[in-house]
Amino acid sequence: MTAHSPRRTAARLDAAALSCAREGVALTNLRRQVLGLILEAGGPLTAYQLLDRLKKTRKQAVPPTIYRALDFLMARRLIHKIESLNAFIPCIEPTHATHQAQFLICQSCGTVIELEDHAVSRALGQATARRGFHVTHALVEVTGECAACAQAAA
Ligand SMILES: [Zn+2]
Ligand SMILES: [Zn+2]
Repeated sequence: MTAHSPRRTAARLDAAALSCAREGVALTNLRRQVLGLILEAGGPLTAYQLLDRLKKTRKQAVPPTIYRALDFLMARRLIHKIESLNAFIPCIEPTHATHQAQFLICQSCGTVIELEDHAVSRALGQATARRGFHVTHALVEVTGECAACAQAAA
């Protein structure tokens, strides 16, 4: 797992605040703090893990506090929810535009790698269209072992 340096996190938080401002919404202190926790985690965090960390500075935080912040961050495409883990990771896409991502989940170290492979998105789009299926949401999560873990095991 790779933890992010505080300086890098601050720069990414500032960039996120700018991207929110461009869309006419505010990255409030709470939202910024939750995003900061996700950026610094170096791996996916569940809502309850986030709540525990948030409570260190915000004792009054309750589950709706964290869920509202997570909903906002997901809607702004600053984070992704990994459904199979019920956990959250930061988005790697720097402009936070809508994009089709795929997620590689390592079962050994827990790392999640975000991919944006247009060939995969295209193939999925074509396969669903052939069956006349209208996609509202497509999520590709692949579980296995990351290159580092596979190498360590070999
Ligand atoms: Zn993304
Ligand atoms: Zn791994």
